[in-house]
Amino acid sequence: MSNISNLPNSKKVILKTRPDGDPHEDNFEIIEEQAKAPDDEEILIEVQALGIGAWIRTTLNEKAFHGATPIGGTLPSMGIGKVIISKSKKFSEGDIVTGPLMAQSYTTMPADFFTKVANPEIDPFTQIGILGVSTGLTAYFGIYDVGQVKEGEIVLVSGAAGGVGMIVCQLAKLKGAKVIGIAGGKEKCEVLVNEVGVDTSIDYKSENIDEKIKEYAPDGIDIFFDNVGGEILDIALDNIRDRARVVICGAISQYSHHDAVDGPSLYLRLAEKYSRMEGFTVMHFEEHYEKAYIELLELYRLGKLKAPFHIEEGIDNFPLALQKLFTGGNTGKLMVKV
Ligand code: NAP
Repeated sequence: MSNISNLPNSKKVILKTRPDGDPHEDNFEIIEEQAKAPDDEEILIEVQALGIGAWIRTTLNEKAFHGATPIGGTLPSMGIGKVIISKSKKFSEGDIVTGPLMAQSYTTMPADFFTKVANPEIDPFTQIGILGVSTGLTAYFGIYDVGQVKEGEIVLVSGAAGGVGMIVCQLAKLKGAKVIGIAGGKEKCEVLVNEVGVDTSIDYKSENIDEKIKEYAPDGIDIFFDNVGGEILDIALDNIRDRARVVICGAISQYSHHDAVDGPSLYLRLAEKYSRMEGFTVMHFEEHYEKAYIELLELYRLGKLKAPFHIEEGIDNFPLALQKLFTGGNTGKLMVKV
């Protein structure tokens, strides 16, 4: 399509009320309106797939690190889509692009916000779920640059059966580390051992995390890669050994009460064990994205990086998908097929 007199209708997910706690479907509304005609230097994109990330919850607060979503505003989301009208020299119609598409079925935005997908032959779910900025690249910089994982080390990963967690486990294994994955439920723990290849798993919902860590790592862990925060962070701190690295990637257990976060009470273990705790966002590594993408792509092509995905069908299910992220309803990266 390249006809601006025949613009498609676009469905949008908008914020109706700010959630008090975890996000719920009722906090959102789907509206439908005609897609905006692109102005000069803008493109109209047909959205194909959107990633559901925990950071979206943080934008639902009145003050937010990633920028607050206003009441009535469209929810943010990163994803992949096809350019159907281009008023920019940067893209041609038919190009597959990635960027901040927002939670909607068609997007009209400045072309400069988007990047052309380097390997459009790879399906959008693998692009987002394994090679994406908030999956593969986050895992890569977190475990390699911040965690500095080495052969023979013991790595504990929380949120291990999620989008970031599954890739972290595999990247650590590829460096020759031993990996303990923490996840909620027997089924997720089985996927971690049988499909992702961790050495052992801990079901935090039914097992004693501290006892299980001590069973597998009586001398302590070298790295804790944290996606969850709260109580699990304290238990991990209590099990670090000398020169450990605690990588703060995220704290999904805390995002729904951002103003009253449960911080670690056992942080003095860092001093006792001459260890460090370091947080990061993937955006701090932006200048190295290309190098990491090329390495991840090679690993994927060699069959060394794989992960199940959780795909919800249709933009109408975006609110439900976001709700599921906070109740552990996903195994692997949660995405919406638009
Ligand atoms: P995900 O891990 O695919 O999904 C979230 C998982 O978190 C759920 O499946 C659930 O698994 C677990 N969870 C939810 N609420 C929990 C709670 N209260 N206590 C314990 N576990 C809980 O999500 P993701 O998008 O890959 O993100 C994982 C983490 O990485 C998040 O903290 C996110 O903010 C962070 N992240 C950071 C960056 C960065 O740049 N630093 C980039 C992307 C993502 P269980 O069933 O196992 O509980």
